[in-house]
Amino acid sequence: MSEETINTLGEFGIINRIAEKFENKNESTIKGIGDDAAVIDCGEKYQLISTDCLMESVHFDLHYVPLKHLGYKAVAVNISDIAAMNGTPKQITVNLGISPRFTLEAIDELYNGIKLACEAFNVDLIGGDTSSSPSGLFISITAIGEVDKEKVSYRNGAKENDIICTTGDLGGAYIGLNILEREKQVFLENDKIQPQLDDHAYSVGRQLKPEARMDVIYDLKDAGVVPTSMIDISDGLASELFHITSQSNCGATLYEDKIPVSDKVYKTAVDVFKIDPITCMMNGGEDYELLFTVKQEDYDKIKNHPDISVIGHIQPKENGVSLITKAGNVVPIEAQGWDHINKK
Ligand code: ADP
Ligand code: MG
Repeated sequence: MSEETINTLGEFGIINRIAEKFENKNESTIKGIGDDAAVIDCGEKYQLISTDCLMESVHFDLHYVPLKHLGYKAVAVNISDIAAMNGTPKQITVNLGISPRFTLEAIDELYNGIKLACEAFNVDLIGGDTSSSPSGLFISITAIGEVDKEKVSYRNGAKENDIICTTGDLGGAYIGLNILEREKQVFLENDKIQPQLDDHAYSVGRQLKPEARMDVIYDLKDAGVVPTSMIDISDGLASELFHITSQSNCGATLYEDKIPVSDKVYKTAVDVFKIDPITCMMNGGEDYELLFTVKQEDYDKIKNHPDISVIGHIQPKENGVSLITKAGNVVPIEAQGWDHINKK
């Protein structure tokens, strides 16, 4: 009997175990399991397909997540995977499991959020499936997109000396989640105390209303830059960087002082939660920013973009994956992602 269990294997171990059992048979399957989206040859362009599910009590808590935000987020996190292939989203399908405790108005609210996201990302809702659920809400969305064949960005394309970039700022969604959890506990102990969220609007917004960075994908296209590798940051910078370095067979160096964090998030991490902000940036999840690499010669084309930070460079594999701290120390980076299976 194997000693392995779902918990010891973790999410990535389970995916690898599944992937080992399957081989692609069709020539049109360009990329199967292992990237942010599957890539299918459909003629002139590649089609991209990605699917993600959000499960009540695992991925969201309806004590503090409004259904409209949930609908928007469920779409945005899928669009983010299409963005991570350097693609453009076109359609979504939505599968719902609904328990009888939900009202029709609640489902309307969820779909108001889904509609808002369809408008924001210019995608069509083209179908889905609806089922009852014994308890809780379950949403699974599939996003379909496309990309010019020569412009697709995989996780495995990073090359030595490429520049490592990230969009936006990191760690906010994790701090937002901690604020919401803290206020929930206060509320459960005394429902007369109203949640104190005003001081933390930015981080709470990062948790509840993530955006897929299609804006940056369009800017990169205009600048004539095709990332050599790309992934979206759903599990934390450390985990995503490991996907890129392991699949690209390389190492990497990041500089702590270059990793973008908002002042508010930094301050809340230190003052409220007494945690090192770099932990939130490296291991906090759900920022849905993009992590990508570009060739050195493309540096001038991205260096003035207000929402792109250069945070390091790709190294030969034997140099490993490390962080140069603000004090100048070299610290190996551990691939601790945000593993939803182990989180509970
Ligand atoms: P992301 O965080 O970008 O959504 P995941 O870590 O969820 O990516 O998935 C990584 C890869 O594993 C993707 O190619 C995804 O389609 C595939 N995958 C995840 N779960 C399963 C599963 N249960 N069966 C088959 N493939 C899976
Ligand atoms: Mg992804």
